[in-house]
Amino acid sequence: MKKLIKLLVTFLLTLTLLVPSSLSIYAQTLSMEDTHLSLTEKKSLDFEVDFKEEISLDQLSFSLGDKPLSEWKAFNMETEAYDLKPWIRVEDLSIDGNVLKGKLVNSLPYGLDATDLRPYPRWTFEELLGTYPLVVKDEGSGAKASIDIEIQNYTGFHKYEEIQPDLDALIAAGNEKGDRFFKYESIGQTDEGREIPMVIVAKNEETIDHYLNNTLTEALNDPAKLSEKIAQDDPTSYQVPIFINNTHPDESPGIDAQIDLLKDLSTKEEFIFNGQEKDSLERLKVSDVLDNFILIFCVTLNPDGKAENQRENSHKLDINRDNIYQTQAETKAMSATLAKYNPLTFIDLHGFVPEFLIEPTTPPHEPNFEYDLLMGGEMDPDTKDVVDDKPGAIGHARAMGDVGIANSDYTSYIIPMFDYGDGWDDAFLGYTAVFSLIHGALGHTVEIPAQNQQSLLAAKHAVLGSIKYVLDNKTVLYQNQLEIFRRGIENEDNKAVDSWLVKADGSVGGRPRGENDNFFPDYYILPMDKSLQKNVNEVYDMISYFLRNGVKVYQSDIEVTYKDITYPAGSIVIPMNQAKRSLANVSLYQGTDESDWGAMYAEIVLNYPKLHGFDSVEVRQADLFADKLTEITEPLSKPATDQNIESDQVVIKANNNDALILVNKMLADGKEIQIVNESSDEIAMGDYLANTEDMKGYLEGLLVNLVESPDSIKATKVEPPKIYLTPSSSNYAELADETRFVLNQLGFTIVEDIKDANVVVDSSGVFEKDALKDKNYIGIGSMALQAVKDQALYPLEIQMNEDGGGNEGLLKANYDLTNPISGSYQSDDIAYVSSGSVMNQPRPEAKIFAKVADDDDFYLEGWWPGHDFVQGQVLGFADSMEDQNFVFFSTDVTNKAHTRYLYRLLANAIYSINSENFIEGEGLKVSVPKKDIQVETTEETTEEPR
Ligand SMILES: [Zn+2]
Repeated sequence: MKKLIKLLVTFLLTLTLLVPSSLSIYAQTLSMEDTHLSLTEKKSLDFEVDFKEEISLDQLSFSLGDKPLSEWKAFNMETEAYDLKPWIRVEDLSIDGNVLKGKLVNSLPYGLDATDLRPYPRWTFEELLGTYPLVVKDEGSGAKASIDIEIQNYTGFHKYEEIQPDLDALIAAGNEKGDRFFKYESIGQTDEGREIPMVIVAKNEETIDHYLNNTLTEALNDPAKLSEKIAQDDPTSYQVPIFINNTHPDESPGIDAQIDLLKDLSTKEEFIFNGQEKDSLERLKVSDVLDNFILIFCVTLNPDGKAENQRENSHKLDINRDNIYQTQAETKAMSATLAKYNPLTFIDLHGFVPEFLIEPTTPPHEPNFEYDLLMGGEMDPDTKDVVDDKPGAIGHARAMGDVGIANSDYTSYIIPMFDYGDGWDDAFLGYTAVFSLIHGALGHTVEIPAQNQQSLLAAKHAVLGSIKYVLDNKTVLYQNQLEIFRRGIENEDNKAVDSWLVKADGSVGGRPRGENDNFFPDYYILPMDKSLQKNVNEVYDMISYFLRNGVKVYQSDIEVTYKDITYPAGSIVIPMNQAKRSLANVSLYQGTDESDWGAMYAEIVLNYPKLHGFDSVEVRQADLFADKLTEITEPLSKPATDQNIESDQVVIKANNNDALILVNKMLADGKEIQIVNESSDEIAMGDYLANTEDMKGYLEGLLVNLVESPDSIKATKVEPPKIYLTPSSSNYAELADETRFVLNQLGFTIVEDIKDANVVVDSSGVFEKDALKDKNYIGIGSMALQAVKDQALYPLEIQMNEDGGGNEGLLKANYDLTNPISGSYQSDDIAYVSSGSVMNQPRPEAKIFAKVADDDDFYLEGWWPGHDFVQGQVLGFADSMEDQNFVFFSTDVTNKAHTRYLYRLLANAIYSINSENFIEGEGLKVSVPKKDIQVETTEETTEEPR
């Protein structure tokens, strides 16, 4: 049988070789200057063909691809089908002898001059793209003529698979010229295995080496000296990087504009475009640009998203929220690349804001930024502008906007700092462009208006406007960046920053220094000793994180005592007197309360020690570690778990996330795990009990804390969880996507059919009440809780600001140590809410295991206007009603996969919800009466664009 098939294939192949396409034997080729139709631009393409025989006009038929032109129907937004009259047709047909002339005309298949509108055409337009043969046939004589026609989104658009061939070709072309150097560099691989493509353009390879090995090294070690030197030197004696990026690949002109620029750079001697001044013409020589700069293009940071024409990555997470958390392969790659190249400017090309938006942002600004140096000076409180109009991000934005509109159909642009009051802030470093500010780069999110060619032109010329501006102001701008590094190295808290740090009422708040003169401490100690560190696993992670981000990390050589506590040799120390101290500090400091603002764009709580759950000590004593430190340059590997256990049964402490991975591995292999229902000095409610020998085979790569089991211990068997996750409520990244990512990361078993599940984990509120009948249910966050209430799945009382789904707070919280869900926490601990709700007194039968602290100062940081009503209210409880078990969290335990300290709450809820004695513990009491909500917020409900 096999042989026959092989023969047949050979025969077919031979046939194909002997008889090329049947068309080309007798068909003529149409002659056309332009063979591109467009989805976003009405076009009319002249064609002409000599049939070399007689044809008849009324016998002619036209087809494109495999269907007649009459079948190329336009899209109907109402029926969501292609059922309107055809959008491609022929016009002005005439015959002169045997020669046919006419026009191939397209109107707009979606009725729009851009393809960014969601859901249509945004999510469907790619299905129309491609190259199709246009065939003209005389039905009488059978005479044919044809030509290939390409249907484009707009001129210059690339589908994912078209990017790399174009990059390869332009890199070859650029290097062919001999006077410039093009280099492809993959900055990393996505979880689906795609390379993240970056192209570097420089004068030659030596300029890149010289920058990395000399200029940047000196900049980070002795910026003051370098600053003096460049003031004297010819600016072309050194080159600094300019970085262009795209984070959201379905904002496609951000990709195409880069490829367009690269093509020009690979072939042209100069760029000629309309300049910043009205009616001026700018000539920018490629040689001048490369004498001064190294151009870096990360064509798209999200190739998996590009392949699917979607905003999010393959985990459905938004990487433009993840740059400071770095939970995703893409942001790990970007952060390492930013630390490696440390660009002077960073432009992230996004869409779509019809007004053409270019950052800088509205306040509040993250206080760790050296904002005066980034903007070009102190802010004038009256004009809200920079004193003396010095070079900086504001002038840079204007140059981008002016040149962007001078070379496209647009006539204006906006800068949030001046055109919005609030709501487009940079208090959060999750956005790629904002993240670059912490490296001292002039970072800008640029939001082009639409998905079409005009926006490609606007984006491309915004970049050219940027290059021109940075060329004109190179020395000053680079000196400002060097000054940022100098402030770091001298751990100087320069008060010039304060003018930018305004409150919502317009008054200057400055950096939140508390009782201290210096906003920055002298050191952070991350203890490694068990007695001083509650989760050493997270410290190993932080070491890798800091090294990836260019923060210097040290280990103490000898023991050091600070405030009566002795930190043994080997403690991890982050000194603040270093160039990238702000990056370290932003991750480790307390954070700010911005609740007086009416709107914020996204979360602002970062606080790694609290949300990853490790001990970090702020040291305010200069020279405490002078001459006592050794630098760590490679991540430290976690030691192996101490397996010295004599007892047959072992208690696995539920005090880090490796314990969850271990338990899930064992459960997946059918090993028995019990959840502990009693506590002692060493053992907490909610720890796990396993057979010691069973466990030993699963420890590789995991660092868990083990305790010998006493002869008798109360514990309940864990029914291996089979989790059904409710789907997202939209196509945008949301808590449900983060929950899926986290549970996968922890190794839980997730089933796709609710019928196969023994627990439903809901963080979207997307469910049918009937389908949940008899299923144990865990609801997380306000969308789930609201749906539970609306569908009367359970009698729930929740409180939240109107439109307050984006309100967040790091809160002081109390946990019930007699409940296995919360038994491994402290009775006075923290919680985190990012979707704005708390629950009020539940049914008397319910067991409250987490609540907001009763103290007046319960609110630690975040953005939650009018958060008084939250005080003392419920964050989590368990209940059993009519044979159905429930756990409710208003704590967003999986938010952005950053809340690692809180994962154990969810895990233990999952492990215990199917057990017979599920409802346990004494339960916490609500003692602060329910308060009325005093504030109506005006939060922007849309997460998009940006
Ligand atoms: Zn975007």
